Amino acid sequence: MVNTPFANYVENLTKAAAALNLTEPELKMLQTPDRIIEKKIKIILDSGEQKEFNAYRVQFNNARGPYKGGIRFHPAADIDEVKALAALMAVKCAAVNIPLGGGKGGVQCNPKELSKASLEKIARAWVGAMVEYVGEDKDIPAPDVYTTPEIMAQMLDEYEKIKGRSEPGFITGKPISVGGSEGRGTATAQGAVYVLEELALALGKEQGGLRVAIQGFGNAGFYAARILHGLGYKIVAASDSRGGIYSESGFNPDELMKIKQEQGSVAALPGARQINNEEIITCACDILIPAALDGQIHVDNARGVQAKIILEIANGATTPAADAILREQNIVVVPDVLANAGGVTVSYFEWVQNRMGYYWSEEGVFAKLKPIMVKAFQDAWRIANDKKITLREAAFVLAVERIIKAMRLRGRV
Ligand code: NAD
Repeated sequence: MVNTPFANYVENLTKAAAALNLTEPELKMLQTPDRIIEKKIKIILDSGEQKEFNAYRVQFNNARGPYKGGIRFHPAADIDEVKALAALMAVKCAAVNIPLGGGKGGVQCNPKELSKASLEKIARAWVGAMVEYVGEDKDIPAPDVYTTPEIMAQMLDEYEKIKGRSEPGFITGKPISVGGSEGRGTATAQGAVYVLEELALALGKEQGGLRVAIQGFGNAGFYAARILHGLGYKIVAASDSRGGIYSESGFNPDELMKIKQEQGSVAALPGARQINNEEIITCACDILIPAALDGQIHVDNARGVQAKIILEIANGATTPAADAILREQNIVVVPDVLANAGGVTVSYFEWVQNRMGYYWSEEGVFAKLKPIMVKAFQDAWRIANDKKITLREAAFVLAVERIIKAMRLRGRV
């Protein structure tokens, strides 16, 4: 049976709770969202048809600061998924020790079937439905799957119209010209690379020449490939939703992106050996980077993984059952809550800059990001070694300890 995303969260949480000797009621509190908001959004599509969509916001935990998390537009966005992602946001913010809680939103819709104008109506309607629950001191949304910086600008516009005041810190992931942060576009990939370099140091590995396979060549995957290529790693495999390619001598990520833009897929590179998205998981490489969808490394393919390191840029890329198999094989998994936390960290910087009305250079942003990522990795690495647990378990222990401490101090548990 396949676990739901929320069941996976509960499984990881329960292990951390045992390591921290939490009480049963404390564990229950950490499994229960503070608030689930479900609304109907009714709009007239630009085709003239009237349509109704389910809209969600889950506010999971705000013991460490306002709720923070993206809004997903996807047909599969349902309460279980949004709840799991909201919980993971609380864990992620605590793991990197930024003063924010966890939340997530969604609209159950298929953006591929909707025009830009209809998507804008949905975005504005989401804000109208949720306005009393969100705000820079309450709950700060951001982009997620199929929501873009442009949609964030529309949501900000709607929010400020309703409120009758400027409040750019209501939402992050905005375009730079409406208060976005320098560096946000590459932050997730850059944060993942900072963590990978620390891991390589901890393992005593020579970084140059290590072979990297990347599943998913979108925002996060492409920039990770480009940064790693620049540092001397060899990008031997890459894929997107239409297929993938492998080369022992390695690819230049900029050339792959050009092919993808011109022909729709990296797989269109002339003369390259084709591999599919299942084969890329088990291909010959040293570092595997899932940067597409959840659940890609599972019980049926985990034994075939040849990489010695998995850098989980995609949220929920490895199932708990696969984690156990990878551990037996001494494969180090850098979990999503550490590997992709650079994104939310620079979102936090965006919120700070909005509230100060004072903006930093890209150099300034990365100079602040690096020590946060390095410290989070080192803390988790130490816990993993001390307690003889995996990095995922250690990241959860690190995060859950911080969350429960804040809850105890507030008298919530
Ligand atoms: P994106 O939409 O820019 O790119 C996704 C890529 O995955 C595309 O290249 C797409 O073709 C590919 N893809 C889709 N279906 C696939 C399949 N079945 N097999 C292989 N590839 C497939 O998204 P992104 O922003 O790069 O995000 C990728 C992952 O990273 C997601 O899981 C997301 O939650 C996670 N993440 C991203 C950020 C960020 O800041 N971008 C932050 C945290 C987590």
